[in-house]
Amino acid sequence: MVYELPLPELTYLLESWGEPAYRAKQIWQGLYQNFWHAPEQFTNLPTSLRDRLGQALRFDAITPSKTLTSSDGKTVKTLFALLDGQAVEAVLMKYDRRRTLCISTQVGCAMGCVFCATGQMGFKRHLSSGEIVAQVMHYARLLAEGGEQVTNVVVMGMGEPFHNYENTMAAIDRLNDPQGYNFGARRFTISTVGLVPLIQRFADEKRQVNLAVSLHAADDALRSSMMPVNRKYPIDDVLAACRDYIEKTGRRVTFEWALVDGVNDTPEQARLLAAKLKGMLCHVNAIPLNPTTGYSGQPTSRQRAEQFKAILEQSGIPCTIRMRRGIEIQAGCGQLAAPALVGRN
Ligand code: SAH
Ligand code: SF4
Repeated sequence: MVYELPLPELTYLLESWGEPAYRAKQIWQGLYQNFWHAPEQFTNLPTSLRDRLGQALRFDAITPSKTLTSSDGKTVKTLFALLDGQAVEAVLMKYDRRRTLCISTQVGCAMGCVFCATGQMGFKRHLSSGEIVAQVMHYARLLAEGGEQVTNVVVMGMGEPFHNYENTMAAIDRLNDPQGYNFGARRFTISTVGLVPLIQRFADEKRQVNLAVSLHAADDALRSSMMPVNRKYPIDDVLAACRDYIEKTGRRVTFEWALVDGVNDTPEQARLLAAKLKGMLCHVNAIPLNPTTGYSGQPTSRQRAEQFKAILEQSGIPCTIRMRRGIEIQAGCGQLAAPALVGRN
């Protein structure tokens, strides 16, 4: 698959065909600057080379098979069919001048967070780096047609990116390439469920990519009941890894919190969270739960959300309450579950 190769490997392949190195650059620019996605579009190449390229590398490893647009037109969800019959979803959010993509890294997820639609479907497989890159290129092309560009990419779609660490980072590096798409590392945000060894690795690599960590509860009993991974990596270990990350990189961490009515939106949870985060370079993103079929929890009211935020802010912890967006097309946080969509329609 063509998006699977970094430029040096593409160059190597072209050289093995007896082609000059500049041909690889032409293909690279066609892919990542013109967003061409079929061999026929590379009209700057001799026909024989175009044919050979099409025979050697797949250009259609992810195919948009369905698109849903929210009634306000601001959220667009695309279902992509993969070559093995699996499917994943990605979401484009158009708010103000931002054009934010939410992309997937796995089909399903092995982490089993009880409130999450992707978790409820279980783990199917990792996406390859090319399948991750291709999601971004799809939307880059779509936006370019209207004279627009992707401004931010959040790795918060289906799957746990740190469980598929290598492919996720390879995809980011490829999109980051100054000779290609040149998408700045700082415009990516990766969200993890809190896999401690990989937070440590990410810290050591000193990447410029923003880090978000899903907390959702401030004590181990509650967190384990919502997120089974907490039994392996308890909250204090996660926070220690985050402190280490902040120290090594000087970068702020975002903590995510899906507010569930009567479960984790209580003043006690807010106070405990404030105590645990005290003095950290961090920010809390709280979002009323997006209901999913496999979980009985309900979203917090705005009033309770504001109360939660106020308690954090009294302790000097910045907190934003985020809106629930794309809900009617099941494009909200944690609502992505491609097979359900395929099955329904
Ligand atoms: N696996 C990663 C990233 C994908 S989920 C992670 O868990 O961080 C992206 C975010 O959506 C996470 O913060 C996740 O906890 C949150 N989320 C999952 N299900 C949700 C739901 N039903 N309502 C609100 N947020 C949800
Ligand atoms: Fe996986 Fe993230 Fe969903 Fe948890 S919240 S099941 S880690 S996708």
